[in-house]
Amino acid sequence: MNLDIEEIKHAEKSQKMYQEFLIYVEHENVEFDRNESKNLELQLKEKINWFERYLKHLEEGGKRIKAGADYWAQHENHYLTIEYGEDEQGDIEQDILFIWCETCSDIVSSHAHEKSKINEFNEIKNHLGHSVISSRENRNQKTVCLICNDCENTRTILCSEVSDWFDEI
Ligand SMILES: [Zn+2]
Ligand SMILES: [Zn+2]
Repeated sequence: MNLDIEEIKHAEKSQKMYQEFLIYVEHENVEFDRNESKNLELQLKEKINWFERYLKHLEEGGKRIKAGADYWAQHENHYLTIEYGEDEQGDIEQDILFIWCETCSDIVSSHAHEKSKINEFNEIKNHLGHSVISSRENRNQKTVCLICNDCENTRTILCSEVSDWFDEI
């Protein structure tokens, strides 16, 4: 069995980060109002549990999460926005786009201006600053789409398929 050690370490680190964020939100709810902080706690607990299952999946030799669709599916029906990326100093990076989740206060996916992914980048950039949701028609459907709430035409931004194992864990 070939274990993806790098991804296991990465997942453990992410899980720990969410656990620390949860402790912070539970104890320092000055920054958030009551409802907002309850909601965020639920999202974080869900995320920590998901990492529990994902780690088990990886430890059984499972494949790593796929950029794009698998992440969008984790934020199904949350409030998403499309923003420019930021570098480590917090300066705007116009070559990177973030899909940001308002519900989780977290980055869903980042999209770099790369030759191989230029179409994807441009499709997303067309909806910069717009409010977006990710949605699947039903649980049995592998296709998840990013849908713009602000545009009347081109509502569907991108669609992609979640990994085969995604709904099993
Ligand atoms: Zn979310
Ligand atoms: Zn739009």
